[in-house]
Amino acid sequence: MSKRDRSGTGRPAVFIDEDSALLSTAPEHAGSRPLLRPHAQAALFALAAHGYSLVLLSSQAGARLARWSARELAQHQQQLLGLIEDEGEAGVTAVLSCPHLPGPTGKPRCDCQLPRAGLLFEAARRHDLDLDRCWLIASGKRARRAARTAGCRSVVLGVGRHADTDDLLQAAKKILRKHDPVQGMVSA
Ligand SMILES: [Zn+2]
Repeated sequence: MSKRDRSGTGRPAVFIDEDSALLSTAPEHAGSRPLLRPHAQAALFALAAHGYSLVLLSSQAGARLARWSARELAQHQQQLLGLIEDEGEAGVTAVLSCPHLPGPTGKPRCDCQLPRAGLLFEAARRHDLDLDRCWLIASGKRARRAARTAGCRSVVLGVGRHADTDDLLQAAKKILRKHDPVQGMVSA
């Protein structure tokens, strides 16, 4: 039986990259207040209301995170969740962060900085997600490649011909237009 059959396992999720999709201003210093993009809360609530788990990734924030201690990172994540939950319960399932620390060759030791898809696989494993039914919202062509590697779909934020939209609420609407509420699956 495949993971998409009626085994009851494997939930749909939307992965949202913190720096390139969720925040309009990323905090340089731990403890300073992050600012959400316009419509961020509305977008997250709409996705959650349609049954998507929300997973925040900090895939493109490596340099910033590498300077922070574990405690500072935890503080930042709490602040972020506080902002999102400000107007109600959006039900963020997880916040996954990685500082992508360099190995001996100078390249990251990990396999999770976009376009690599390590964080998507990690989230799916930890939270029983069905990658076939997941989406990634992030900026840049790297996002598209990472989503393809993980077997999920993407909405690329930004301007220009490689981007789908520059608005997070429009990104959520694009996902929901593909959503099949009867089967809880995205249509082909
Ligand atoms: Zn990493």
